[in-house]
Amino acid sequence: MTYIMIVITSNVTPDEQIEEIVKVIEKEGLQAHVSKGADRTVIGLIGSVNPKLSEHLRQMKGVESVVKISKSYKLASRDFHPEDTIIDIKGVKIGGKEIVIMGGPCAVESAEQIDEIAALVKAAGGQVLRGGAFKPRTGPYSFQGVGVEGLIMMQEAGKKHGLLTITEVMTPEYVDICAEYADILQIGTRNMQNFDLLRKLGTCGKPVLLKRGFSATYDELLNAAEYILAGGNPNVMLCERGIRTFESYTRNTLDLAAIPVLQQLSHLPVISDPSHGTGRRELVAPMSKASIAAGANGLIVEMHTDPDNSMTGDGVQSLFPDQFAELLKDLEKLAPIVGRTFNTEKSPAEKFLSRV
Ligand code: PEP
Ligand code: MN
Repeated sequence: MTYIMIVITSNVTPDEQIEEIVKVIEKEGLQAHVSKGADRTVIGLIGSVNPKLSEHLRQMKGVESVVKISKSYKLASRDFHPEDTIIDIKGVKIGGKEIVIMGGPCAVESAEQIDEIAALVKAAGGQVLRGGAFKPRTGPYSFQGVGVEGLIMMQEAGKKHGLLTITEVMTPEYVDICAEYADILQIGTRNMQNFDLLRKLGTCGKPVLLKRGFSATYDELLNAAEYILAGGNPNVMLCERGIRTFESYTRNTLDLAAIPVLQQLSHLPVISDPSHGTGRRELVAPMSKASIAAGANGLIVEMHTDPDNSMTGDGVQSLFPDQFAELLKDLEKLAPIVGRTFNTEKSPAEKFLSRV
């Protein structure tokens, strides 16, 4: 497959002419993706493009240039889609100015546990409830998650408290059932290059949060995202969750530079995970703030009501509920300083009072 892109100066090229170009492309049985930017419009072509067509397009009125995307990933690249992708899930917009907070336990443990934590996430101003029903554990004898029942518990807690839900899916066979119960599917670090799973996500109909493999380069992460996009699912978020380095004080090294780098290379939203990125509770709030200051579109943060007795080893990196609430309050103050907004869904009266 060959991909090319066409660059058009929008202030010279009227909409009718863009439509004309799209018609020519579609007549050849190819798909055209139009992205209107502030100073140019880019029409991305997907498919095998014969040289005659590319020459014809080059000659058309309004066409500034016809360029082949040379990167190995195409749909994920900013060249193909200059504007930020904003994923709208039931009114929660991920990828724009708004900061989105996903909070909750590492694992769903019981209906009571997830319900209690969901209430706390909502009260603090979070928009998404996180929780694993299927856990990718390093050792086979460790707790593997409560399974499908956990999906039901999470869906109920999310509905009851007005939160979206995100949960990890580990194998292609479970994609459909997870997609039925959760609003967002999470692909864990260990599965970033599980290509059968990525292909299946292309047709799952739900947004995907793709975690960076702990030894993956930016290029490998973006190529993994490309599998999902090429399969027909445009709603992919990239997640920096720490990489393996020589430093052993922290569980992983949260690569803060990944946030602006990925945003430069790609139009996809970037979410930071300071919990797995550090593995230490006391580092979660500072690295959350640093991630937002670096431009992250949102955070995924572990929070537990009884972290010492959590069923996975991730209690040590889980915030207590009051720390989680404190962090969100700080983010609300930080947001306007770094040109972002943070909607904690306050009542109009509360909003009015906080302005005065
Ligand atoms: C998790 O989110 O609980 C998790 C297992 O994440 P990761 O795949 O980044 O280790
Ligand atoms: Mn975890």
